[in-house]
Amino acid sequence: MVSKGRRRFLLASLAVAAGASRSLAFRPGARKDRDPVCREDIRGHVFRGDGPGKPWRWSCEGFSYRRSADGTVTCGICPHRCHLKPGDRSVCRSKVNIGGKLYSLAYGNPCAVHVDPVEKKPLYHFLPGSRAFSIAVAGCNFRCLNCQNWEISQARPRDVEHIELFPAQVVAAAGRSGAASVAYTYSEPISFFEYMLATSRLARAEGIRNLWISNGYINRKPLETLCRFIDAANVNLKAFSNQVYRCLNGGRLNPVLNTFKTLRDHGVHFEITNLVVPGYNDKPDMVKRMCAWILENLGADRPLHLLRFFPRYKLDRLPPTAPATLERLRKVCRDAGLHYVYIGNVPGHPANHTYCPGCGKLVVRRHGFARPEVHLQGGKCVFCGTAVAGVWEKG
Ligand code: SF4
Repeated sequence: MVSKGRRRFLLASLAVAAGASRSLAFRPGARKDRDPVCREDIRGHVFRGDGPGKPWRWSCEGFSYRRSADGTVTCGICPHRCHLKPGDRSVCRSKVNIGGKLYSLAYGNPCAVHVDPVEKKPLYHFLPGSRAFSIAVAGCNFRCLNCQNWEISQARPRDVEHIELFPAQVVAAAGRSGAASVAYTYSEPISFFEYMLATSRLARAEGIRNLWISNGYINRKPLETLCRFIDAANVNLKAFSNQVYRCLNGGRLNPVLNTFKTLRDHGVHFEITNLVVPGYNDKPDMVKRMCAWILENLGADRPLHLLRFFPRYKLDRLPPTAPATLERLRKVCRDAGLHYVYIGNVPGHPANHTYCPGCGKLVVRRHGFARPEVHLQGGKCVFCGTAVAGVWEKG
């Protein structure tokens, strides 16, 4: 969670041009049968946020959308496929149809900027002890009842304080901070896809890694483009139930499962987070089915983080998840065959460390977000030589 005090805000004058200041009504996305065409060659795409004809200083044209003769547009970034008439605003609140063109208003205007340990993402098998220059623009394509960052995820980019930081400035600032990576996180990066894509491309060229922390609710084509620049990801698997996805998050399960397969196919290192919310997704049977799917499709080496829920937002009357529940579910996952199952949000818990799948010895000891002790050499356990999955050293 990003506390307000830890965000570096700068009040900026929101110079909204006349075209964007019209009333932008929310209209639920309507499904269209045909896929819009993705602009696969992003080199020719205008990603600069400032210039003539822009509806807002911090805007750019949408990366993937289809225009219709009647002036409506259909966004192709995520499964909502927002179908917007001129003046309409998207489900993620960051896209608008202005004059028959789709614009992102989430470009170069982060509301949260912070340097975090990579373990906080959480990413436990990726460059342990390294730092991630973390950014977020307001907006999200989900409506999670338990959102920890709802002040920024359930807001329009123009409604929250932000600073100006265009992609080249992000990369320069990340380099100055000594971070090994730029992380797109806190809100939902899919809602600022264009900004993330442009920044990740520049970061990659400068030898800085890119981390995608997401709900995974994205279509295959834009994700494939993103995979060219992303080095690691942590994707939330909210529940292994379409019904829970619908009522808790406002999405569907299958597109998220497809995201895991796409990341796997493109060789991106990724870890899975499952926030255990009492009464929604804490049944052993559901977790068992989730593990069976992970084993069959992603393998036993895929790290899984079972996180403790704390009462937040619209679920502020639920109790926090009992640590005993997390331990029970961890046993279910371990018995199913997963090698790396962590318990998060329970400080000092032994299931916060990594154990060798060969000899069972502790190979990465974590102390909160301090630099961990790593007992691996060349990605192998120093005690028995078994390979431990992950990216442990800068290549
Ligand atoms: S990314 Fe935003 S605008 Fe595009 S389909 Fe998803 S919710 Fe709609």
